[in-house]
Amino acid sequence: MADFDLIVVGAGIVGTSAALWSRMRGLNVLLADPNPPGSGTSSGNACTIATYACLPTNDPSVLTGLPRLLFGTDSPLSVSWAHALRNPRWMLSFLANCRTGPSRRIAGDLAALLSAADAGLDPLIAEAGAGDLIVSRGQLNIWSTREGAKGAASGLALRRELGVPFRELSAAEALELEPNIRAPIARAVHYPGARHVRDPEELVRRLHARFVVLGGVWRQAAVERVRDLNDRVEVMLGGDTVTAGRVAIASGARSALIPGGGADRIPLGTERGYHLLFAGEADRVSRPVGWSEGGFYSVPMARGLRLAGTVEIASLDAPVNRRRLSYIARRGAEFLGPLPEPTSEWLGFRPTLPDSRPAIGASPGSPRILHAFGHQHLGLTTGGITGRIIADLAEGRQPNMDIAPFDPGRRYA
Ligand SMILES: Cc1cc2nc3c(=O)[nH]c(=O)nc-3n(C[C@H](O)[C@H](O)[C@H](O)COP(=O)(O)OP(=O)(O)OC[C@H]3O[C@@H](n4cnc5c(N)ncnc54)[C@H](O)[C@@H]3O)c2cc1C
Repeated sequence: MADFDLIVVGAGIVGTSAALWSRMRGLNVLLADPNPPGSGTSSGNACTIATYACLPTNDPSVLTGLPRLLFGTDSPLSVSWAHALRNPRWMLSFLANCRTGPSRRIAGDLAALLSAADAGLDPLIAEAGAGDLIVSRGQLNIWSTREGAKGAASGLALRRELGVPFRELSAAEALELEPNIRAPIARAVHYPGARHVRDPEELVRRLHARFVVLGGVWRQAAVERVRDLNDRVEVMLGGDTVTAGRVAIASGARSALIPGGGADRIPLGTERGYHLLFAGEADRVSRPVGWSEGGFYSVPMARGLRLAGTVEIASLDAPVNRRRLSYIARRGAEFLGPLPEPTSEWLGFRPTLPDSRPAIGASPGSPRILHAFGHQHLGLTTGGITGRIIADLAEGRQPNMDIAPFDPGRRYA
């Protein structure tokens, strides 16, 4: 007989949601992470429950702009060519998925997952008493150039086709919502269904605290190895060996590094992203505002104004790229007017598969090893629904939505 029904590896938004959903269903659950809950990529993101955000980074415009991305220094998306050459499988699959057909299919699959996102997250927020962290003012997106505004048309048409609600605003209407925007406004869109979290790390801490109150077992230790014993799994953590009916690998961008976790054969990469925090400046905006040409969001959060975003394709262990941070500082001042020196800065690792779909479901190697990683730009939004799906699978139930597009054993290009 196994010690636990489920062991969850990683206490980010995804793993903690899986642990809490499973515990709420009465399963006997152990959650392990060497770091404090929510302190990884889940802490420093752009705070948005972005249910509208079904368009993947894989976009035909990436193919046309490739030379600039590889060699330019002043773009919201940058690629380390040395990293790209060392990881040809990920890069080539990523680029293949930038073609129009695959890109549209990915958007459809992400839209389906996003349509269930609130149903996955809201019961956890209620259970953890975290409603005070959630703000419902929608999200605003701004395009400043005529070229950008024109280029946005096809993406907005696809969103409309996929049933994402939004409203086009005039520049005057956008400025009425956010009077501190200083950049030109060529196009503005408001997504009324989006919400934001005043402090995403605190949200995960509350989910984690509730998990423990409900009797879930927490171990602050790294999982060193997973082994399938055919009728159960054995997990080594912090020098101990424990067993469970199933294990869920939810270790974000580091999920492929766990020996025996079955993710080493999956092309998991990372899209690195940065933020700058300006304490005391939160009232510059009253909701998350995305600036398309800048590639970052301005977010009013509990700790101040957070400018978060940009994409850097580089390795997990590459040093902080200070050019990315000065890019955000410079363009932040273009967008919102002069800003003081930032009070802190952050680098995080979006876990990204080359088709931008997360991996949710049984590992190709074992029905007892569940995968729950690869949530790229959307983990704060889709962590809750992923957690509910993992709880279903841990109970041996069929989830009430189609998870075939997220099958970890799929072809990635
Ligand atoms: C700049 C930026 C802005 C973003 N904005 C948004 C946004 O507005 N909305 C949105 O929905 N998403 C956003 N995201 C994406 C979102 O933050 C991620 O998708 C999400 O945090 C991933 O969560 P996770 O639980 O998979 O990973 P993490 O939060 O990284 O958690 C993984 C955990 O696994 C642990 N771990 C690693 N190895 C082991 C091991 N061997 N044993 C045990 N534990 C281990 C780590 O310590 C870590 O705590 C953004 C990301 C970035 C970088």
